[in-house]
Amino acid sequence: MEFDITWMLLGLPIAFALGWLASRLDLRQLRIENRQAPKAYFKGLNHLLNEQQDQAIDAFIEAVQKDPDTSELHFALGNLFRRRGEYERAVRVHEHLLSRADLAKSDRERAQHALSLDFLKAGLLDRAEDALRKLDGTRFQEQAWLTLLAIYERSREWPQAAETAQRLQQSGHGDFASRLAHYLCEQAATALVRAKDPASARTLLQKAINDAPQAARPRIQLAALLAGQGDQAGAFELLESVQKYAPQALPLVAAELLRTAQASGQNQRALALLTQSHEEFPSLDVAEAIVQAELAAGTPAEEARQWYIRHMQQEPSLIAAARWLAHEPFAHEQAHPTVQQSLDHAARPLARYRCAACGFEAQAYFWQCPGCQAWDSFPPRRIEEL
Ligand SMILES: [Zn+2]
Repeated sequence: MEFDITWMLLGLPIAFALGWLASRLDLRQLRIENRQAPKAYFKGLNHLLNEQQDQAIDAFIEAVQKDPDTSELHFALGNLFRRRGEYERAVRVHEHLLSRADLAKSDRERAQHALSLDFLKAGLLDRAEDALRKLDGTRFQEQAWLTLLAIYERSREWPQAAETAQRLQQSGHGDFASRLAHYLCEQAATALVRAKDPASARTLLQKAINDAPQAARPRIQLAALLAGQGDQAGAFELLESVQKYAPQALPLVAAELLRTAQASGQNQRALALLTQSHEEFPSLDVAEAIVQAELAAGTPAEEARQWYIRHMQQEPSLIAAARWLAHEPFAHEQAHPTVQQSLDHAARPLARYRCAACGFEAQAYFWQCPGCQAWDSFPPRRIEEL
């Protein structure tokens, strides 16, 4: 018994001393590590500044391993992986951050946002969508909605796009009325072409006209639908309404307006409307339709062609000049086809449409630019008239 007590009396201070020593060692070790973590961090930074991304990544990985609780380093590493196109590794870093229970709310939101960018850049749109939806109620919410809108447009999910655009509009991010009309037009086109359901297409287009009266596209598309069903008078009436609601878009419909007018016996009415439009905005397409309407009304060709001259007096135009010359007698008649061919060749690129946002050029008119995906970025004018 005595023996044990002696040992206990001796042992206690020894154990205490050993404990104290161990704790000192621990502290020293911690200090060394703490000093090493920033060292690795600065090494990484240095590599980054020298544009040595591989070495920077190695240094950051070392720093993260030494100090797994530092979120800043994880963010730096994740962004580096993403920028280098190593999306899988970027995802792993950000998912690791999100799995940490001790992560502050603002860092959690930031990691969620970074994760959505990883998926987006990797082209994994479904997973990007999931990640973006989790940003509702965070400070990244609006940015997430805008990205979601772009995703839905790209994947042509129009009802979801419309829902997102409405949210953005309600939170004061601009007027999406004409964009929403485009979505309805896209849905109508799908209903007509894929589902062969003209009744639904008509309802969608009518809704677009009611919601965005100033938009030209729903009127033009509904007119085409009616004309396709044989209702030429109804189609003409709709195209006529373009002059009232979206006069700048009349050049786009001039030819079809004249065609439906003639098919429903209203050539004179069309001629009057086209002449009035040309007075307000001289346009090549309108001038061309006027010439055709005059000819159909029995005006002598010589007189009808004067419209090209009248147009050129207002707006110099190679296209109009070539069209006028096509029926002008030449002193050297045998040279006419060659000269005409050269003129037409020179005029052809001028008859294209051009996106005002990115410069994409096309023979056809686009409501959404195939180059930059912008809506309504093509002016309804030929390049020569811009
Ligand atoms: Zn464009």
